[in-house]
Amino acid sequence: MASKPDFIPLARPSAGEAEIAALAEVIRSGWWTTGPTVTRFEEAVCRSLGEGLNAVAVNSCTAGLFLSLKAFGIGPGDQVIVPTWTFAATAQVVEWAGAEVVLCDIDPDTLNIDPAQAARLITPATRAIIPVHMAGYPCDMDPLLDLARTHGLHVIEDAAHAMGTRYKGKNVGTLGPVTVFSFYATKNLACGEGGMIVTPDEALAAKMRRLSYFGIDKEAWHRYPEREPWYYEIVELGYKFNMDSLHAAIGQVQLQGLDRMNTRRREIAAIYRRRLEGVDFFADDPAHLHSYHLFAVRLCADVRRDHVIAELRRCGIGSGVHYVPLHLHPHYQNGGIDPSAFPVATALSDRVLSLPLYPDLTDFQVAAICDTVNRTVGGNACH
Ligand SMILES: *Cc1c(COP(=O)(O)O)cnc(C)c1O
Repeated sequence: MASKPDFIPLARPSAGEAEIAALAEVIRSGWWTTGPTVTRFEEAVCRSLGEGLNAVAVNSCTAGLFLSLKAFGIGPGDQVIVPTWTFAATAQVVEWAGAEVVLCDIDPDTLNIDPAQAARLITPATRAIIPVHMAGYPCDMDPLLDLARTHGLHVIEDAAHAMGTRYKGKNVGTLGPVTVFSFYATKNLACGEGGMIVTPDEALAAKMRRLSYFGIDKEAWHRYPEREPWYYEIVELGYKFNMDSLHAAIGQVQLQGLDRMNTRRREIAAIYRRRLEGVDFFADDPAHLHSYHLFAVRLCADVRRDHVIAELRRCGIGSGVHYVPLHLHPHYQNGGIDPSAFPVATALSDRVLSLPLYPDLTDFQVAAICDTVNRTVGGNACH
């Protein structure tokens, strides 16, 4: 169903003539697939995050998460700990790799994986943890990285929401061994479909680059003095997950505007926190930097979320649910999972609502959204 022109969607990319010009330039250049534009985008992302990083551009964050598991050799017989409060991708990549998903409950104040609960789920088969920086608020990485060191686990950060997020002053992307960002259309840095794997480990990056394109080693000719630069070798089974130049061109322009766009997201979040009544907020500790991919609120137990969503829609305002926890979906229920094993996520599952948040929202629109929410939930503080 087409939206009315004044409908306020949940999310909308913020882009203009600069993205159009960058895209037009690639189209005219004739070099549409992976090439120098993609390399420049990778280098720009590394520079924006910190020193000593390597980046591999891929066609989605999902692909990047999957390649990280493959690069670590994770497969059948292995277990990977994933928060139950996440998008399908975080868990399904584990299943694609043939490993077992072990769902973990969350912290009620952040919606992020609970490190203490994760510690209790570790078995001799555990090989990795995939923390998700929900909504752009960082996971408590110190205990997770400690846990990983103690038990010899790989940490693969699902940073789909967290481009521009900082944990204790440090950029997400510089904290752990592998971080994967998403550039999906609704994300803070958007280019339609796309993702970026970031790692301080150069050899791991080279392996993931090879896996992203059929296991082909394009640098093979360097090793043989008699070989011409066209020479390549297929050294292992790989996949087709490379990013093309069209997406990279948009991504480069978006990256230049990221700080400005994230600052605007934080301004909007501050208005929500000031003006909304009768809902609770999730953590935003100033020791970190929230990138506010989403603005989620917690509704009172006596408010029907479906009613709020319908009322907002009737008033021309989009909203969304991020997420129905994985353990409540049929695919994971069929595996015999017991909801009482996830008391926090189960209790929050029908109470969390995402309100519109994107850089081009005006203060006037945000105020109108607040008024509508306040009217709908009754404006009384709850507990
Ligand atoms: C969007 C998203 C992904 C997947 O990103 P794609 O780039 O669409 O593959 C993974 N995890 C989370 C938490 C997401 O929100």
